[in-house]
Amino acid sequence: MNPQAAIKSTIGPLRWTVPSATTKGVTYEVAADTVTGELVCSCLARRVCWHIKSVAAGAIGKPRVRITQRPARPLTVQTSAAGRELMAMLDV
Ligand SMILES: [Zn+2]
Repeated sequence: MNPQAAIKSTIGPLRWTVPSATTKGVTYEVAADTVTGELVCSCLARRVCWHIKSVAAGAIGKPRVRITQRPARPLTVQTSAAGRELMAMLDV
């Protein structure tokens, strides 16, 4: 059996860290929605802020991507109703 099959890889959303222009040492995190690609910022601006504009303009550079790996679940978990529900929740 291919050992790779026992590991499930999940690629997280693209994230950029944008330093605050006004407050030293403060950074905001802009993340791209994995489904829509929409950029979302961690700052409190309700409209598109300059952090998002900077990322969209390519001024921030390459994003960080978090790839998590976890062992595949045992078959007994996958075949139970509760297990399938858990899988569905985790795999969103
Ligand atoms: Zn922002």
